[in-house]
Amino acid sequence: MYPRSFHYHRANSLQEAATMLAQLGDDAKVLAGGQSLIPLMKLRFANPTHLVDLNFVSGAAYIKGENGAWRFGALTRHSEIEKSTLKNSFPIIHDCAAGIADVQVRNRGTIGGSLAEADPSGDWATVLLTQNTELRCLSPRGERTIRLDKFITDAYTTVLEHDELVCEVVVKAPEKGSGGAYLAFKRSAPVYPTASAAVQLTVEGDICKDAAITLGGVGLVPVRASEAEAALRGHTIDSKTIRAVMEAVHQAADPQPDMRGSAEYKRSLVAALVKRAIGVAVERARGKQVKVSHIYA
Ligand SMILES: Cc1cc2nc3c(=O)[nH]c(=O)nc-3n(C[C@H](O)[C@H](O)[C@H](O)COP(=O)(O)OP(=O)(O)OC[C@H]3O[C@@H](n4cnc5c(N)ncnc54)[C@H](O)[C@@H]3O)c2cc1C
Repeated sequence: MYPRSFHYHRANSLQEAATMLAQLGDDAKVLAGGQSLIPLMKLRFANPTHLVDLNFVSGAAYIKGENGAWRFGALTRHSEIEKSTLKNSFPIIHDCAAGIADVQVRNRGTIGGSLAEADPSGDWATVLLTQNTELRCLSPRGERTIRLDKFITDAYTTVLEHDELVCEVVVKAPEKGSGGAYLAFKRSAPVYPTASAAVQLTVEGDICKDAAITLGGVGLVPVRASEAEAALRGHTIDSKTIRAVMEAVHQAADPQPDMRGSAEYKRSLVAALVKRAIGVAVERARGKQVKVSHIYA
């Protein structure tokens, strides 16, 4: 189906885009990679009267490492992150970028657009919630910084004002002795995961000093599994601890049954993904380069 007709506006800066949104009113939306918005417009689930295109804003796509943090311009494409040096230095970020859909989607879709869309099955929020992540946001009233755990409030809902844009995603680099992994289970490459698990661990010998675990696709928003984290923190990482973690993950998951499986199936699936991700995260925390890819049905 074709989208309903709309007025097209090209922004030359993020500031100009925010001003245009304020002037054009509630029926205006920004266009980033278009990989969520355009399909929704074609289905006529989204019918904006005005589209403000960010794709001609120069300097809005970048990856910079400075002062112990990685900074991603909102317009940075998944494929740019996939191909960056983060593959070795921050592998959980590569696990995420490289596993999103297919090459066409990764070449267009952006990190800022993904977080702003807040799709419950989207990969970026699940991964970045295990990290110390902040979003720099811009509106005609100025800039503000929002922690990611305060940004998404419900499925497809964020705290962004109508005329406010994500301009930068800032992720603190993990400390020494910390490793992370992200694994998703998918029916095929160009679909969203059935469930996914992101794990970041700090280890000393066999002891887990710190843990962050987020579950994707098993709730209306990514689920931070705090009981599972507590089952790991301060404990020896052995089969008894892993069993306790999996039990806590099973309890934390709150999935909806759908064509991809029953709620019980998804709970078991996400617990198994967490177990595998812990194994990879531990090896990475110990300094090993471990390559992972998503699991396909
Ligand atoms: C076939 C297919 C499969 C996919 N599979 C996956 C998958 O497995 N995992 C996954 O994570 N994603 C998947 N996606 C989605 C993809 O990752 C998109 O890139 C992402 O959801 C949206 O990013 P975008 O840049 O395309 O945003 P757009 O579609 O342009 O915009 C999405 C929404 O965010 C708003 N927006 C965009 N940028 C900003 C900004 N900077 N500030 C404020 N608001 C903004 C827009 O107004 C719109 O409401 C898939 C998409 C397709 C078409």
